[in-house]
Amino acid sequence: MILILLGPPGAGKGTQARLIMEREGLVQLSTGDMLREAVQAGTELGRKAKAAMDAGQLVSDDIVISIIAERIRQEDCQKGFILDGFPRTVAQAEALDRMLEKAGRKLDHVIEMRVDEEELVKRITGRFTCPKCGEGYHDEFKLPKVPGSCDNCGPVEFVRRSDDKEETVRARLKAYNGQTAPLLPYYKDKGVLRTVDGMLPINEVAKEIEAVLA
Ligand code: AMP
Repeated sequence: MILILLGPPGAGKGTQARLIMEREGLVQLSTGDMLREAVQAGTELGRKAKAAMDAGQLVSDDIVISIIAERIRQEDCQKGFILDGFPRTVAQAEALDRMLEKAGRKLDHVIEMRVDEEELVKRITGRFTCPKCGEGYHDEFKLPKVPGSCDNCGPVEFVRRSDDKEETVRARLKAYNGQTAPLLPYYKDKGVLRTVDGMLPINEVAKEIEAVLA
């Protein structure tokens, strides 16, 4: 199964992708995670991507398309995968169509996670993650059971994304509305788009997604 999770930053794509990954045994492909790893590793690709990421803008299509093209050829993607944060422009969506066609594969579902923008800003600016297991937390909505300690891993230094500052979040939302939202009619025309209410609690969103996939 090949699945795209589509929605603005903070809609919960990463959270739901992790749940689907556990349930369906599919690989989660997050271009944001791959780019952050490249930035941390100081690779040439990371250097090219960093300025755009820091400003809350999109990294160039060429870069993300080549990352995904290479990644989906790998063995662990043959059973299927969940795209989280890709495609983000019509050019990326068209490139994905070509890649899949060439590989004789097809896109099964595109799930739009719809959310309220002001709520998003609150969600994003409060979030933090365990650097060991990737579990996500939130200052207001999901504190760890013991302060300073991950529920899965014990005491850790939690990390916050540098682009989760309010000003950058606003720029990221602008990029979503201007460049990514046109993918909604693109996939609607192809008959693969379904929308879920991303404002519901995590497990209820998961149930809605499960119903779409069933
Ligand atoms: P994310 O973790 O998905 O919110 O992505 C973090 C940042 O990485 C974005 O704000 C962009 O700068 C960059 N990025 C991730 N995926 C893409 C993509 N498909 N196209 C362009 N830029 C991307």
